[in-house]
Amino acid sequence: MTESTYRIQGATGEWEVVIGLEVHAQITSNAKLFSGASTRFGAEPNANVSLVDAAMPGMLPVPNRECIRQAVRTGMAIDAQINKWSRFDRKNYFYADLPQGYQISQLYHPLVGEGTISIEPEEGQAKTIGIERIHVEQDAGKLMHDQHPTRSYIDLNRSGVALMEIVSRPDMRSPAEAGAYLRKLRAILRYVGSCDGNMEEGSMRADVNVSVRKPGDPFGTRTETKNVNSVRFVMAAIEHEANRQVDLIESGGTVVQETRLFDPDKGVTRSMRSKEDAHDYRYFPDPDLLPLELDDAFLAECRASLPELPDAKRARYEGPLGLTPYAAGVLTADVETARWFEALLAETARVQGKPEADVAKAASNWLISDLFGALNRLGKDITDSPVSPAQGGQLLGLVADGTLSGSLAKQVFEIMLETGDDPAKIVEERGLKQTTDTGAIDAVIADVLAANADKVAEYRGGKDKLFGFFVGQTMKAMAGKGNPGVVNERLKAALDN
Ligand code: ADP
Ligand code: MG
Repeated sequence: MTESTYRIQGATGEWEVVIGLEVHAQITSNAKLFSGASTRFGAEPNANVSLVDAAMPGMLPVPNRECIRQAVRTGMAIDAQINKWSRFDRKNYFYADLPQGYQISQLYHPLVGEGTISIEPEEGQAKTIGIERIHVEQDAGKLMHDQHPTRSYIDLNRSGVALMEIVSRPDMRSPAEAGAYLRKLRAILRYVGSCDGNMEEGSMRADVNVSVRKPGDPFGTRTETKNVNSVRFVMAAIEHEANRQVDLIESGGTVVQETRLFDPDKGVTRSMRSKEDAHDYRYFPDPDLLPLELDDAFLAECRASLPELPDAKRARYEGPLGLTPYAAGVLTADVETARWFEALLAETARVQGKPEADVAKAASNWLISDLFGALNRLGKDITDSPVSPAQGGQLLGLVADGTLSGSLAKQVFEIMLETGDDPAKIVEERGLKQTTDTGAIDAVIADVLAANADKVAEYRGGKDKLFGFFVGQTMKAMAGKGNPGVVNERLKAALDN
C-alpha cells in the first residue's frame, strides 16, 4: 500500500498540509440530552423547547441514558477507550442562542478516549487516523437574521440537543484524506445508528483545523474554520486555507491562531475572531450533574448491540464471499447498500439452493452494474429502489436456471423497474423465456443464411469474422430469445457443413 504525498508548491519550495477535524454529530435520540423535549427536524420554530432548554431558573438537567448509550457504542465502533467515569463541565459564554449562558460539555473527563479510524483516500491506499476523544455536549439554538428588516429571531429547537464531538488527531495530510475520513466516519455512524450523518440538515458538521509546514519541520500554527457542512466544502476550505497560509508565510507574514468561516459561494475562508483558549470559558464541573459512572452490564449491552462494522464486513466480502476489493468497498460504503446486498444475496442463494459464496459474484455484479445503473438513471437511492432484493434474487435465479439469457434478463429488469412486477410474471405474460428448442433455432438460422448467401460464401471462403454477424442476425430474428450457447452451436454446424 502506498501513501499519497500531497504538496503545495510555493515560491520557497514544497509545503505539507496538516489537518485535524472536530466533527459535531447529532446523536440519534427522540429526546434532548438533558430534557424530554423532542428532537424532530423541521418542527415549527420553538415547538421543541422545554423549560430546561429555555433555561428557566431552577430547572435541573437529567442525562438521557439513550444519548450516553449511543456515544458509548460509537466509541466502541472505533475501538476507543471507554471511560467508565466521566464528568460534565460548564463552558461559560454569552450568546443570544444560548439561554443558559453556558454549554454543558465535557472538557476534562470525556466519555470516550483514544481510538482509530482507517481510511482509503484512493483505491489501494490505506491509512489510520487517530481519534483523540469523543465527548458529549449540548447543541445551541439558532439565530435568524434574514426574517425581518430590523429584528433577529431565535429558534431554540436545537437548544439542548445531544451532540458527540469527535476530535481527530492532526493526522491528515491532504484534502482527499480529510474527505475520506469524513465519509468513513459518516459510514460508521450510520452503521452504528448513532447519528444519521445528514450534513444538509446539520446533523453532522466539521470544524476544520489546518496548518502548513516544510516537510520534516514541527507543526505550524493552525487556524480553525468552523461549521463546514459538506464533504466537498471541507475539502475546498482546506485547499484554500492551506494556500492562503503558504502565501502569507512566504510574503513575510505569520499565521495567527484564529477562528475562520468558509464562504461556499466564493470558496474562500474569512477571519471571524481570534482563537479563544479553554481558560477564556471558565470551565468548571457542572454542579447540577453527578459524574457519569458506567457499569459493566451497561457496557456489555452496548457492545452486544453493535452490528458488523464496515471494515469487518469488507474483509468478509473479500475473504469468504470472494468478491473483488473494489466490489467489497462499494457494497460496504454505506449501511443501506450493504443491507440491500445481504438481502439480495440471501434470496439468490435460497432460490438456487446454493451457498451464498457461490452466488455472491453474480449478485454483486448485478447490483453494482444493473441496479446502480438504473437507480442512477432514475435519480433514486437504494432505499427507494422500485425493485426489491427478493425480486432481484428471483431474476438472478431465472438467469442461473437458463430461463433468461443475459440480454433477456436486462429486458425483464427494465419492465420490473416500470411495473414493479415479479420477474416470473413478466416472463410468463410477455413470453420472454429464452428458447433452447433446436428445431426453432435451426429454422431461423436457415432463413438467415438464405437471406445472406453472399456473406455465407465469404465466410466459407475464410472470412471467420463474419460469424458474429450471423449470431447477431439470428438473435435479432428471435427477438433476443435464442439461447446464446445453442445459437452459437447450431450456427457453427450449419455454416461448416
Ligand atoms: P479546540 O477546541 O481549542 O479547537 P481541540 O483540542 O478540541 O481544541 O481540537 C484541536 C483540533 O485541532 C484537533 O482536531 C487537532 O487534531 C487539531 N490540531 C491540533 N494541532 C494542529 C495543527 N498544528 N495543525 C492542524 N490541526 C491541528
Ligand atoms: Mg475546536
